[in-house]
Amino acid sequence: MIADFAWIRPEPHGIQVVPADCWIDPSQAVANALVTHGHADHARGGHGRTVATPETLAIMELRYQTREGALPVNYGETIRLPGEVDVTYVPAGHVLGSAQIVLEHAGERVVVTGDYKRSSDPTCPPFEVVPCDVFVTEATFGLPVFSHPPIETEIAKLLKARADHPDRCVLVGAYALGKAQRVIAELRRAGHHDVIWLHGAMERMCRLYEEWGIDLGALRLVTDAGKDELRGAIVICPPSALNDRWSRRLPDPITAMASGWMRIRQRARQRNVELPLVISDHADWGELTRTIEDVNPHESWITHGREEALLRWCQLHQRRARALALVGYEDEDD
Ligand SMILES: [Zn+2]
Ligand SMILES: [Zn+2]
Repeated sequence: MIADFAWIRPEPHGIQVVPADCWIDPSQAVANALVTHGHADHARGGHGRTVATPETLAIMELRYQTREGALPVNYGETIRLPGEVDVTYVPAGHVLGSAQIVLEHAGERVVVTGDYKRSSDPTCPPFEVVPCDVFVTEATFGLPVFSHPPIETEIAKLLKARADHPDRCVLVGAYALGKAQRVIAELRRAGHHDVIWLHGAMERMCRLYEEWGIDLGALRLVTDAGKDELRGAIVICPPSALNDRWSRRLPDPITAMASGWMRIRQRARQRNVELPLVISDHADWGELTRTIEDVNPHESWITHGREEALLRWCQLHQRRARALALVGYEDEDD
């Protein structure tokens, strides 16, 4: 059906850029990898060479304890790969260092978004629209039911819960890369300047963000808190710590979780979340469809989520589209 664009080939474990012998976000170790961002389902260790933004490479170094084969590319900089493929990394607005990968070869342009969002985020530069022939888009929240409210509304809920319960603490489950730092930065933007307390697992990534110039304000570890210091405080932990023994040391915590999935009541109930906060680093349905309109590609390739509904939407709007069957992409980062 799709005879052209033969130089870019979707395979189950990644997207292959054939003339350059390299893979985008491969889920297995390869000789040459182009990595969109640091989430574990996109950035795996063990590649011979890894091309990514300096921020993403720093995140990968923190996680995999090696910089071997790292080749940094700044936003907007173009490098030439073997086989006459030009590659440019462009902001995706997802997390620190996240990029869309723009590939040009034989007069054709392909854009691979990785994960992205269109709403503002104080921790990374905004998504840029790049016109192209083939637009490879994620679809994590590719159903009309997913519409993320403005983050200000959700942050206001969090601050109100805290103000209403000065003897308790608010415990927010948030992914350690991206979500946690965005929630902290948005709390600061909303005028909350008290100490924010961290689970130990969040510390190193928060420090890395600070090293890259993202001001997160006063942060301290829960293990260093005095007996009553946590009353009326906001505590950030990984989602896995929300209901485990660790949280028993906290004063009567109000359990919150920051995730796009909090739109689904059942998901909140499963995790015993009292205060669901619909905060996502992915495009919602409206952003996905608007982005396809803005980019206006010759053809869209949909991956990594709920492909079917977005595929249908493209068909209804007379837009060429196909679903890719990539495997191994989980939502570490919703
Ligand atoms: Zn992802
Ligand atoms: Zn991601």
